[in-house]
Amino acid sequence: MKAELNPVPDGGIANRVRWLAPSGTSMARQAAQNAFSRQCKFIDFTIGELALFPDELIRQAAISAIAEGRNRYSDTIGLPALRLAIAREISAETALTWTAEEVAVTAGAKPALVFAWLTLLDPGDEVIVPVPYWQTFPSQIRLCGGVPRFVRHRDDGQLDVTDVRRNITDKTRVLLINTPNNPTGAVYRDDILHEMGDIAVEHDLWIVFDQCYRSFVHTGDRHKHITELIPELRKRTITIDSFSKALAIAGWRVGFMLAPNAIITAVRALQSHMTSCANVIGQYGALAYLNAETDRFRKRAVDHLSENRKNGLRILSELNGVDPPLAQGGFYFYLNIARLLGRQAGDTRIHSCDHLTQFLNERTGVGTVPGSAFGDPLSIRISYAVEPDDLREGLERLVRACNSLR
Ligand code: PLP
Repeated sequence: MKAELNPVPDGGIANRVRWLAPSGTSMARQAAQNAFSRQCKFIDFTIGELALFPDELIRQAAISAIAEGRNRYSDTIGLPALRLAIAREISAETALTWTAEEVAVTAGAKPALVFAWLTLLDPGDEVIVPVPYWQTFPSQIRLCGGVPRFVRHRDDGQLDVTDVRRNITDKTRVLLINTPNNPTGAVYRDDILHEMGDIAVEHDLWIVFDQCYRSFVHTGDRHKHITELIPELRKRTITIDSFSKALAIAGWRVGFMLAPNAIITAVRALQSHMTSCANVIGQYGALAYLNAETDRFRKRAVDHLSENRKNGLRILSELNGVDPPLAQGGFYFYLNIARLLGRQAGDTRIHSCDHLTQFLNERTGVGTVPGSAFGDPLSIRISYAVEPDDLREGLERLVRACNSLR
């Protein structure tokens, strides 16, 4: 029999995924690497993960897990000891008591989010999603039959609570809160979280609270969980968290969710039909680190990021026509490039944020993510979780190229 050239028959793809594109961040990374002419070292600021080796404890525990033959499925929602260790850590952080029964370990935070939408949303239910957003949020919500309802951030990076109130309808089911925020780098203030909590109670809504960047706050107060401010919210809050960024093990795929027991029961059923469990070797790595009750990796990561942040802000302060980024938490510089649009280098006139990132790829060998990937046509995102030398060289090239625009 002859092999078919196109094994997918016309009309063979379900409507559910026809519209779905790969994440804007991964496309930006691909475009950056394809576009650059390789005359000098390509510097990639599109990547959302730390350029650090995981802690020795984690690496050794994972190696031992392999050596000891820990090759079987774990309990569907995670090693009981890991769930307990997570409950202990979050209890210490929030000064509330969380139990292992409220924890489900998942293969990274992404499936935890999908499980949240699948558990909470019936077709047509709406989720309040602040713009700019991490693109996976609206994509997943749509895939799960929900409808993202977009609201604004204010210029200071805080949620526009008036806009949130304006967009509540009788279909609204969930308020999505992501702090520290990807991509803006904002850390929401207590009063804003209080107001969001009030709205959730007034309208009987769920809160999906994504705190994957909680370890990295660089200015002002520390990160606060919304239930720390309003403990009654815990019966209507699903917390999404991950070791990807916090322990620099993004590729090992270990994240988790904290939620009321009824949600965790549903997640157990869902995960049993999907991934079965998170990567067991990764779970043992995370467990060893949590059980050591040490803060040393977080300190190392924060030192690395603070130094990069300081140096990066200094270099970016030389940009003409671009305000300094917020960079309060996480590891992104989010630049408003509105005033660069319409400017020209030679016969190239920059007409959009996508065009600016293409220009930076091709002219300078620096990869950045266009704001269009976050629903915002006037910005670009730079990850500063890279090697310090790469950060310096890449930002200097970027500043020279942007300042050459007239
Ligand atoms: N939530 C936010 C806000 C993120 O930026 C990311 C990853 O970039 C995730 C969740 C997913 O993390 P994980 O690697 O654990 O799936």
